[in-house]
Amino acid sequence: MFLFDVCFDLDELARRNMHVHSHFSRCASGEMLLPDIVRAAERAGLTDIAVVDHSNLFKDVEVPAHNELLKAQRDALDTPVRVRIGSELSAWGVGKYSETPEVIRAMEYRLFAQNHYQMFYWEHPEEQTPRGYADHMLAVLTELFRTDFCDCVAHPIAPIKIRTIAEPARVLDCISDAALGDLLAAGEAAGSAWELHAGATLGFPAFARRFFNLGRELGVHFTFGTDAHSLAAIDPAPVLEQMKAVLA
Ligand SMILES: [Zn+2]
Ligand SMILES: [Zn+2]
Repeated sequence: MFLFDVCFDLDELARRNMHVHSHFSRCASGEMLLPDIVRAAERAGLTDIAVVDHSNLFKDVEVPAHNELLKAQRDALDTPVRVRIGSELSAWGVGKYSETPEVIRAMEYRLFAQNHYQMFYWEHPEEQTPRGYADHMLAVLTELFRTDFCDCVAHPIAPIKIRTIAEPARVLDCISDAALGDLLAAGEAAGSAWELHAGATLGFPAFARRFFNLGRELGVHFTFGTDAHSLAAIDPAPVLEQMKAVLA
């Protein structure tokens, strides 16, 4: 479901940081307590944030219970920042998700990662080549868009954690403009936005520009996220000018 209108203005998009981890994500800093996250968002002048802890197949991860705790903490705060409590869910294979449909549908904000290939349980393509990974990511997202689960795709298509091939960036050369356009349109039709992820934009600038320009032509929804694991990373300002230069 779309939370915001279509927007291509980076300054406006960056007033909503829709990818922040709390201390409940094992990779995030222990300083990421909700009241401190919200104060940092206020200082940065943000209007909206989404707190999206990892949901994966680890037994000690209890996203639904953690969401309830975070929502109670949020409701006790007095702040102009709109705070959504959700999850960075795992679409860890074609049609494979880390939570049940009931749990997913009950969440306030559902960001889906389709490319955490470093996780031991993640599905890999049979053919572990750039082409194999490109086709696998397209298949995972195409299947996800047959559901009503996804509000936004996290770091879309970025080959960030593929350790089984020598040059992961070559995965992006295997995705044609036609295939990327079809995927962007399918996401839009499914009510899913596309994340302009700070790290992925700066890490794969040529692809990020192609992705943003195609999305702009098609009129799809984008959201902004720094993937903050520390309080300092909640403010987009330090990366915003670099991102603008890449996406211009
Ligand atoms: Zn991620
Ligand atoms: Zn994340």
